[in-house]
Amino acid sequence: GPTLILALTRENAVAHWRDLLGPKTVEEAMKENPNSLRAQYAVSNVPIGQLHGSSTPDDAQKELEFFFPEEHTFALIKPAAAAKYKDVILQKVKDAGFTISKFKEESLTREMAAQFYHDHEGKPFFEDLLSCMTEGPSVIMVLTKENAVEEWRNLMGPVDPEVAKETSPESIRAHFAEDILSNAVHGSSTKEHAQKSIECVFGELDLD
Ligand code: GDP
Repeated sequence: GPTLILALTRENAVAHWRDLLGPKTVEEAMKENPNSLRAQYAVSNVPIGQLHGSSTPDDAQKELEFFFPEEHTFALIKPAAAAKYKDVILQKVKDAGFTISKFKEESLTREMAAQFYHDHEGKPFFEDLLSCMTEGPSVIMVLTKENAVEEWRNLMGPVDPEVAKETSPESIRAHFAEDILSNAVHGSSTKEHAQKSIECVFGELDLD
């Protein structure tokens, strides 16, 4: 059946959690430390303790990476918002638990903007979008976190700021977008797009 997996944080967490668990087998736990979690929450007829904890900080690191793998996404603060709200947007990024693994301030070329938005080529707003993306320096980043692609898109909010204000009033677009084109931020929509955009701006990266 399902297992509940937790990442627990405190000073000396590995040893502290192991102390709470108590001895390995239910029998030992009952005898030696009846207040331990393994003794208190034993399941009748099952001799194996129902709780696990990493043995060492190294093991904890490995197990955390296995169950909560980090992901990278490509994120950009568009020129108009970079000029006015860079610091406050960066603070929101950090408050949401992202690590800024790469950071660059640079004006996009039309070719770069066209590559990020190639899905929209041919649409009536495509030329205006390229102009808006190349009108000044953007803040270009690689953001790292578990589930980073989806979480950054959630933090950005819906593409249209009016919709963002209605449905995601805490999102970056609700706060800082001017209109649908200068809507403050960009983020890749899939891991594959993120990988391509990251390589385009930062080259091959060894982030892991
Ligand atoms: P995003 O990934 O949330 O930025 O949204 P999309 O990939 O759908 O669109 C890329 C960018 O194109 C958006 O951030 C908008 O600036 C712009 N855009 C998308 N849809 C429209 C539209 O219907 N009209 C206009 N004027 N711009 C749009």
